[in-house]
Amino acid sequence: MIEQTKVKPGYSGICKFCRGEFDRAKMTQHLKNCKERVRLEAETAKSPKGKKFVRSKLFHIVLEGKYNPQYWMHIEMPAEAQLILLDDFIRAAWVECCDHLSSFQIGEFYYKSEPPSFDYSSIEIIGPDEAASIEVKGTTSEDSEEEDEEDLEDSEEDENYDKFDLEEEFDPILLETIPADIVAKLQTIHSRDDASKYLREELKVKIPAPNDKDRESVMQYFQRHDRQRAVKFLIEMIEDHSLYAELGKVLSVGQKFFYTYDFGSSTNLNLRIVSEREGLVNPKDAVMVVARNLAPEFKCSVCDAPATLIFGGAWGDGNTYCKKHAKKYEGEGLLLPIVNSPRVGVCGYEGPGRKYAHEFDV
Ligand SMILES: [Zn+2]
Ligand SMILES: [Zn+2]
Ligand SMILES: [Zn+2]
Repeated sequence: MIEQTKVKPGYSGICKFCRGEFDRAKMTQHLKNCKERVRLEAETAKSPKGKKFVRSKLFHIVLEGKYNPQYWMHIEMPAEAQLILLDDFIRAAWVECCDHLSSFQIGEFYYKSEPPSFDYSSIEIIGPDEAASIEVKGTTSEDSEEEDEEDLEDSEEDENYDKFDLEEEFDPILLETIPADIVAKLQTIHSRDDASKYLREELKVKIPAPNDKDRESVMQYFQRHDRQRAVKFLIEMIEDHSLYAELGKVLSVGQKFFYTYDFGSSTNLNLRIVSEREGLVNPKDAVMVVARNLAPEFKCSVCDAPATLIFGGAWGDGNTYCKKHAKKYEGEGLLLPIVNSPRVGVCGYEGPGRKYAHEFDV
């Protein structure tokens, strides 16, 4: 029952379940009340396909372009999935052009993708004019279907991962630079999660402004700052700040966080955990788009007809063209298709992977 949706400019979008069109600000409320959603979910649960689904705590997450919030999406995904699943999804649906690095910022910490592992044996030393054909083999995030399934399972490694021993992990010389009471406390803790919880509480301690006329107060102020720096450093060392961190461990309902794809010509997203609920999820396809914006309309800067191409690297007015008026730029390699993504017209972005290309037909 896929209906053709009329493309309208602006900030509205459609609900995946009832195909209703709603303003960006009203979508969260609508998704709570959508009767068609309830009906379809009950239907899926009873169907043979639904039998393969697993019950899981789900996060409802809203994503939007930081500088172009007319691009937005509502998704649901398991809280126990890892950040890399969300990264994979964002790449596939919205931003992937040439395997740039990406990161999430959650609170004051960054959760990053590692650069591809560098295998020197994969490089051949060749003449300078053949240099263009040098091939570097690395890991990419594309072939992750099997990994996604693993994301939902607890493994033995997780148990070992939680074991914590301060002396084993830190050099004694380094520990001398950490306030003694923190070291003493951490020596009594043998779970990584507990160590992290303790340090996160320490980090919350507010530092009062110093009284400039009181030398003691100024000294204390700087000592407290040093202490917080030490706490931050320990958190960085103890916690997993890779994309393998679990969403449910690093995020909670109401929390805002941020995503950056490509540290050159960046695409920045704002994200927020709207709510959580128990629900069924397909382990093979664990990120569900439940609503997204309708594609904004662009006009040709020459003739006002609907534009389909954008002159890359210069997003904004005056750079969009219909097929006819784009002709003079052909061959310059900077013409990109206008696609429904906050990365439209940036770097070499040509649109989503096949899987998301027809999501809702918008
Ligand atoms: Zn609906
Ligand atoms: Zn690129
Ligand atoms: Zn035109």
